[in-house]
Amino acid sequence: MKNDSLFDVLVIGSGAAGLATALAAAPRRVAVLTPGATAAGDGASRWAQGGIAAAMAADDSPQLHAEDTLTAGAGLNDPLAVAQLTAAAPAAIDWLQTLGARFDRAGEVLTLGREAAHRRARIVHAQGDATGAEVMRALAVAATARSDLTLALGRTAFALARDAAGRVIGAWVQGPDGSELWRARAVVLASGGYAGLYRHTTNPPGSDGSGIALALAAGAALADLEFVQFHPTALAPGADAHGQLPLLTEALRGAGAVLLDARGKRFMPVLHAEAELAPRDVVARAVWCETQRGGAWLDACEAVGASFPQRFPTVFAACMARGLDPRTQPVPVVPAAHYCMGGVRTDAACATSLPGLYAVGEAACSGVHGANRLASNSLLEGLALGRALGAALASRSLPEPGAALPVQRRWQPLSAAQRARLGDLLWRDAAVQRSDDGLARAEAALAQLAAEVPTASSGRDVLALTATMLAAMRARRRSIGAHFRVDTDAVAAA
Ligand SMILES: Cc1cc2nc3c(=O)[nH]c(=O)nc-3n(C[C@H](O)[C@H](O)[C@H](O)COP(=O)(O)OP(=O)(O)OC[C@H]3O[C@@H](n4cnc5c(N)ncnc54)[C@H](O)[C@@H]3O)c2cc1C
Repeated sequence: MKNDSLFDVLVIGSGAAGLATALAAAPRRVAVLTPGATAAGDGASRWAQGGIAAAMAADDSPQLHAEDTLTAGAGLNDPLAVAQLTAAAPAAIDWLQTLGARFDRAGEVLTLGREAAHRRARIVHAQGDATGAEVMRALAVAATARSDLTLALGRTAFALARDAAGRVIGAWVQGPDGSELWRARAVVLASGGYAGLYRHTTNPPGSDGSGIALALAAGAALADLEFVQFHPTALAPGADAHGQLPLLTEALRGAGAVLLDARGKRFMPVLHAEAELAPRDVVARAVWCETQRGGAWLDACEAVGASFPQRFPTVFAACMARGLDPRTQPVPVVPAAHYCMGGVRTDAACATSLPGLYAVGEAACSGVHGANRLASNSLLEGLALGRALGAALASRSLPEPGAALPVQRRWQPLSAAQRARLGDLLWRDAAVQRSDDGLARAEAALAQLAAEVPTASSGRDVLALTATMLAAMRARRRSIGAHFRVDTDAVAAA
């Protein structure tokens, strides 16, 4: 594994999107970079609970799935990209099963869950609420078994390498022995999103946008950064500290769990016809408002009760670890930053605006999610588009890269204290509800922070990404989807 090797494809990130791309690119020579210590990576994929959306039932169709996706996205989606995604979903599930993924079944038939804003039960899941862990297990086993695939563990990309013609020809990488150049004929950014930057988040710390930031630093076009999805139900105990909060999967509400206010009354039925199964942004805002008034609780006692440990083992363990028994008591919840609809802009072939650079998964903005992602469409996006991209790269002739220009960046991530300041300013003024005054305050605090971070460093690139996101939030003055402005006329969100 020499750092001066030339690969056909260099994949940055080993989540569901990165590994799906790498596996499908066979028999090309592929390298996958990951900061983690295992092939399953340390991104969001292995944390996914609810599952993968796919029209597998007799009463369902890719067309219906596409319609639900467009409705959730408030019409800002690219309809062709959505049709491509939902049509590819059943085959993606079949592919995962051929790799050895074990999904929950009743006999021979997959058991399908239902989540908010889906008109059909179409959520394929594993071990109740451990879908991401099972998907990543299967992908990692398959990737590790492949001799044409180099898994480069403990390595973080901090800059894209370009040749004199401006083509992306690899990445500068921080590894165990310092900085290295990894060269390839095609580079795929599969580095996940940036929801982990917020103070309260369901994401692991590695979801810090560092991959999108290095694409921005190289001049790639980004899109839709203002659309950050907040999950309505993260477990509240621990929310006074920074970091990842346990998620209470939406499938709980799909199973009948209800939301209660501080007086123990349901508050969703008066707000939306679908009550607790209203679109995520609607529920997140309602929970946000209740937390300002005294708190919000998720009550699954009647709907799930004694079957909790079998049906939702991950959530059950997280609650019990905090001294809460969800079989018998409502548990306190807060909204938390969960998913980024925006990212590096890509076309139908996952190509970015930079020659030689592709993007896939949460790092990309492919147009499938619009202003709001439909639940369980993101693992699907990484898997389905990753497979399509890998297959396309495998069948195409890839150009010889030129010599790399000298790197203009150095590896220096934000310190823990700087990251905490960033998380606070985002949570205070750029979270569930936004206003121009608040966003201006966030920009000023960000500028102060940036003045303390060296220029041309990887940490500064993440701050530049944040500045671009805040500017996008300010520029979009009307509320739509996950972007909610309290200071302008609100458009009814989907
Ligand atoms: C708690 C939780 C529950 C969820 N539940 C669901 C669900 O039920 N269904 C669903 O569809 N979606 C769900 N999601 C969202 C979904 O998990 C993610 O959107 C999806 O897994 C993203 O996959 P990805 O491969 O694009 O990114 P990730 O899985 O985040 O992988 C990114 C990879 O890139 C690596 N990386 C990052 N930066 C760099 C860098 N600079 N250099 C090199 N490598 C880098 C990371 O370490 C990681 O390996 C959930 C998310 C969370 C956090």
